[in-house]
Formats: sequence, C-alpha cells, structure tokens
Amino acid sequence: MDNGGCPKSRAVFFFVFYILFCIFMVLYNDTFYMAKVVFKMGSGHCPTLFPENIFDKIPDNHPARLVNEVVDSLDISEIISLYKGGGCSAYHPRMMLKVLFYGYLSNVYSCRKIAKALGENIHFMYLSGNATPDFRTINDFRGKILKDKIQSIFAEVVKLLVSMGYVSLEVQYIDGTKIEARSNRYTFVWRKRVENSKAKLEQKIAKILSDIESHIQADTQAENEECLPTKFDSEALREKLAVLNKKLKEPSKQLAKDLAKLQEEHLPKLAEYEQHLENLGDRNSYSKTDVDATFMRMKDDHMKNGQLKPAYNLQISTENQFITHLSLHQKPNDTTTLPAHLEGYAAAYQKQSAEVVADAGYGSEQNYEMLDKKGITGYVKYNYFHQEQKKKVRNNPFLVQNLFYNAEQDFFVCPMGQKMDKVGTGKRTSDNGYVSQVTYYQAQRCEDCPLRGLCHTAKGNRRIEVNQRLSALKDKARTLLLSEKGKEHRSKRPIEVEAVFGQLKHNNAFNRFTFKGIEMVILEALLMAMGHNFRKMATKGWKRLLFYLFYFKSLFYTNRYAIAYQKYAL
Ligand code: SF4
Repeated sequence: MDNGGCPKSRAVFFFVFYILFCIFMVLYNDTFYMAKVVFKMGSGHCPTLFPENIFDKIPDNHPARLVNEVVDSLDISEIISLYKGGGCSAYHPRMMLKVLFYGYLSNVYSCRKIAKALGENIHFMYLSGNATPDFRTINDFRGKILKDKIQSIFAEVVKLLVSMGYVSLEVQYIDGTKIEARSNRYTFVWRKRVENSKAKLEQKIAKILSDIESHIQADTQAENEECLPTKFDSEALREKLAVLNKKLKEPSKQLAKDLAKLQEEHLPKLAEYEQHLENLGDRNSYSKTDVDATFMRMKDDHMKNGQLKPAYNLQISTENQFITHLSLHQKPNDTTTLPAHLEGYAAAYQKQSAEVVADAGYGSEQNYEMLDKKGITGYVKYNYFHQEQKKKVRNNPFLVQNLFYNAEQDFFVCPMGQKMDKVGTGKRTSDNGYVSQVTYYQAQRCEDCPLRGLCHTAKGNRRIEVNQRLSALKDKARTLLLSEKGKEHRSKRPIEVEAVFGQLKHNNAFNRFTFKGIEMVILEALLMAMGHNFRKMATKGWKRLLFYLFYFKSLFYTNRYAIAYQKYAL
C-alpha cells in the first residue's frame, strides 16, 4: 500500500520547494543566514610542552634531503687536503658543498643570496646545520677551493648515478650551445684589424728608423748603411732605441722629435698589438672585458641583425637526461671540440663510452677517424645526411655521390657515360689544422654534351673533387645511422641533450655566465650541471631511496635533528 502519494507528484513538490528555498536564500541571505567564520589557531603565541624540531617540517622526499645524503656519501678528502690548518676554525667543506649544490639546484646562484637564505630558508638551515657563513666565505670556498676540485666532485656524483643504475656511461649524447659571457658586447678585438694595424705601424717605425740612421750616417760620414728590418717586436725596438739614445747624445731637434715619437707613441702601441695577438691565440676575436670570451653568432638574436656576442661554446654529454660530462671551448665551431671533449670524458671516468651520438655539426673526417681509432661506435650524422635520404637527391644522376665509381681503375663515369679520369690530388686544411687528401677527376669533352645545362655551369670540362677517405667514412656512418640502433639513437637525441639545454636555458634562465675567465666559467657550468643532475635525481625516484635511507638512520638516533647535529658538529 502506498501512503506517500504518487512518486511523480512528490518529485514535483520537492522541486518547487527547492526553487522557493533558493529564492528565499538569495533574497534574505544576509539577514537570516550567516555562515560561521572559522579561523585557524595561530601557533606562534601558544606555549609548547617540548621544543619543536624545525627540520621535521622538511618532507622526507625533499631535494634538500637528497643533497644532504648524496654529499655525505662523497669522498672529499682532496678538498680537505687543501686546508692548511692553524688560525681560526673553518666551516666544514662538506657543509659548504651542500649549501652550494642546493643553491644551484634551487636557482640561487649569488653568494649574497645564499648567505641570506642561510638565515631565512629552512632548507638551507637544514643543510648548513644552522651554521651561517657570510657571503665572502661562500665566495672564497667556491672560487678558491672548489674551483680546482669541482671536476672530480662532479665525476663522483655521476659515478654514484651509475651505481644507482640511472646512467651506464656506455653512451654519450653530445651537443653544444653558446652561452653569453659576462662581458661588454662592444669591447671586441678582431685579429684582422690588429694584424693590419700592426703591419702599418711597423712600416711607420721602419721609416722613422731609416731617417734617423741616414741622419747619423750623414753626420758621421759613414759609408755602410745599416740594413734595417721591416718587422719589429717591441723588445727589439726598445733595444734599438736604447742604442740610438746612446749614439745620439745631442740630437738635432728633428731627431729628438722622431725618437720621442718612437718611444712614447709607437713603442707602447706596438706592445699593445702584441698583447692583443697573444690574447687571441688561435682565435679570430676576443672581448677586452673577458679576454677568454670569443665573439660568436648566437641563436637568440633579438636585434635580428646577426650581431656577434662574446660567448663560450658549452659542450655536454648526456645520458637519460643526466649530464655526464661537459667541456668549455673558445671556438664557435662544434666540429673542432669533439676530440678535447672525449679526452675530458676519458680522464674523468678512466674509460671511454662505447657509443657516441651527435648531430651533423660533428661529422668531419677528423672526428670519424678519431672515433674509429678510439674504438667508439659513432652515430654521428654528416652534412646532407637527411637530404641524401630524399628521393629527389637519391635519383639525381648528376650529383657526385651518385656517379658510378670504378674503384679498381680509379675513375668516375658521368651521366653521359663519359670516363672522368683522375687529373690530380690536393690537400684541404681545416680550421684546427687537420689535413685531408682530395682527388680531382675530370671529364674529357663537355662542350657538345646535351646534358651540360643540367650537369654543371662551369667553363670547360666538368671537374669534381672527391675525398675518398671521407666518402668511405660517411658510408660507414650511414650504415650505422640507418640501422635499428641508429634510428633509436637518432630519435632519442633530441629528447636527451636538447631537452637538457631547454631545461638549463629556458627553465633555469641560464643564458649568461656570471663569472669571467674560462676557469671560473667552467666552475659555474659544472655547478649548474650539478644542480641539474640533483633536480633530475629528485624527480626520477631518489625520493623513495632517501626515505629508506633516512628511516634506517633514524633507528639509531633519538630524533632527526640529532642526525644533522652529529654530522656537522666538528
Ligand atoms: S656535361 Fe660533361 S660530365 Fe656532364 S654529362 Fe655531359 S659529358 Fe658528362
């Protein structure tokens, strides 16, 4: 028996009631209905039974705990050996390392900001064990003590990553980027300009010296005219002036004027040019406000005028998005940096990786040869690798790489079937002095060829230049790059090394160095890389490991504060 009426009418009744209730609430809310406001109790003024351990507020999976654990596991005896002892007690280097690494992990790079954070930020306090070194102490530790040992500390952390299974050191994804130097963009010195100016100055000096010599000969009626050099260095000029000053005890007005000009104007200028050339070394430019920085074309050309900026070429090796090695170079070209970069890798880990993956910027004869010699499998592209794969290029019979080559008799055959015989050999020298052997082949008669318009535009018979060694190395590289492993590496390379550059430059705004001089710049780059690796560790599961490590230790101590205290009490 249903006592409540029909369900439809009940639903209508409740709906009408709900609508009326809503209208009532909207109209009379302020008058009749006032929700109770509840505020949280402020704990700042309430007494507590036991003193609170502030470090308990740091979550167990916080990156600060990660830095703490990792630095605790490092062997820092080399750094400790740098302390002389005596005098005032020093802050423990392990604590300083923790603070610095955490600073670079959390984008706090300035020593003043780190020093400030040590008094304000609980994570810095936890890592320093409540010690408060001032900014000068942090800066001295970074610039004087850590500078020479950062490479080995960085390698230690990477070896820890190997033991954790995050990297294997069996493969390197290599790429480079240009980072602007901390120097004035308009204080450039160009090699060509210095060389031209120096040559002109030498001519002027030679002319003045020749005039002086002829005056002396006229006065002394000497017959043998001394043969003067046309090129001078400042030291030779200084000696020559000393001799002339001795000879000419009472020079005429003109001679005195010439000597003064040489002494006060030309000699300092010559010494300045020599200093410029010494600073340049084998580079084409440098900045006066950071002599180690070279002017390079940058990708972020916001003025859109192709302006060159003082910069360093940063090369990194990554694996699983961890930076396993980095090197800094003063030349803009990536090709020339690979040998030094790989040597640095071998020195850091006493072994070389089995595989190297890099883009076309590294595909040179010298690099392929070097990888072969070191027994490294190189998945390194070369120029036109991608174009080669296109049908249009593959089917173009006029391209040198598509011409038929008879290896036994060493000749090419052109699309008209004409034999292209070897007509000579030559040498090509790269920027870094590597000499390649090239061979020239030439067709016999091109004048009446109907394909000439499609084949070449030069006058006379077609002549081609072939680097046989490079062609063989390219064939080998192509086979590797087109293999299954090669395809896998090629698809992985952009999300490996390019992603790391994106994180460093975009997420952490690392677009300009804050130090000057290559030694300090390397230190900064390694600290940035260390910060990056810690960030990666924190996101790739170290949190769990820390959790276990931390609670394992907690079994032996009464509280967590005691752990930190025991670590830093010296
Ligand atoms: S132009 Fe000369 S090299 Fe080219 S197809 Fe004709 S004959 Fe051969």
